[in-house]
Amino acid sequence: MPTDETYRRVTVFGLGGTIAMTTTPTGGVAPALSADQLIAAVPGLVNTGITVDVVNFRQTPSAFLTIDDITALASTIRDRLSGTDGVVVTQGTDTIEETAYLLDLLHTAPQPVVVTGAMRNPTLAGPDGPANLLAAIHTAVTPEARDQGCLVVFNDEIHAARRVRKTHTTNTATFRSANGGPLGYIVENRARLLNTLPHRITVPAQPSNDLHIPILTIALGDDGSTLHALADHIDGLVVAGLGAGHVPAHLVPALETLATKIPVVLASRTGAGSVLESTYGYAGSELDLLARGLTSAGYLDPIKARILLNTLLAATSDRATIHAAFGAAGGYRHPQTWPWPTELSKDRR
Ligand code: ASP
Repeated sequence: MPTDETYRRVTVFGLGGTIAMTTTPTGGVAPALSADQLIAAVPGLVNTGITVDVVNFRQTPSAFLTIDDITALASTIRDRLSGTDGVVVTQGTDTIEETAYLLDLLHTAPQPVVVTGAMRNPTLAGPDGPANLLAAIHTAVTPEARDQGCLVVFNDEIHAARRVRKTHTTNTATFRSANGGPLGYIVENRARLLNTLPHRITVPAQPSNDLHIPILTIALGDDGSTLHALADHIDGLVVAGLGAGHVPAHLVPALETLATKIPVVLASRTGAGSVLESTYGYAGSELDLLARGLTSAGYLDPIKARILLNTLLAATSDRATIHAAFGAAGGYRHPQTWPWPTELSKDRR
């Protein structure tokens, strides 16, 4: 039985972000600190007995990261896994909910990949970066965190990459999992997982920046001009619908036509809860749109649905496969409908 002392070696990949920022001569802060400098600034790390290897992978605001960067990161992680018990990624918080989910879809090994960052940069009073980094390192060596894919550790909470969202522009408690809550917490330098994921989902794919998959957020009185302008230039579409997955009735014909050509995924713009399947029956309701060929995102929010669709399209163009994949990943069909091998926890087999 592995204990907290079994796993002792972690590789930290630095990608920049607020956690690595310092003052610039022209005003404001920008990424400047290396991953080694971040590690050196963590109080108490040397006393943990955990060996930390460091890779300076990128040094950028997270708004500059791309799908290609994260695909390259996933493959570098794969190459460096032997001899490492867990991986930590430090990066800007603005895109963590996307990068962590993409890593989760691409990472197949048992070692945890733990993403973290900071909301208060190192020049401010009470920067949260060192505490988040230490918490992420402790999580990466925790036996219970193995086989959970990619996790986001922030503010002493452990979140599943597939569920977590950034919910606040400045608060250090910005990361929340509205659907299901955190998987666990860091207490006295130990990661305690109270819940674990019922299954893992990974895609054998090399997603890239080449696919154009916009998110169309539907708003009050949407006149359809954005949808019509986009329609001929995209590889897939995520509709961030109103409420449980609704659009104005006059958008329905264009969405139905589009769904005969490319995958059109229906998500909710609300930020929590699942797209419904069979409650509302008017034109433009979820029942109507799903019957016309749109694919439900289920519990996945629009941002994560876009990442999943990009990854799926890199693996297959088969619409039935894409549909089945969303059922499992969106949490509204049994995980065994996932088209590729999945790891199910014992109680779900
Ligand atoms: N505010 C961001 C951060 O928390 C900036 C970024 O995402 O790079 O790091």
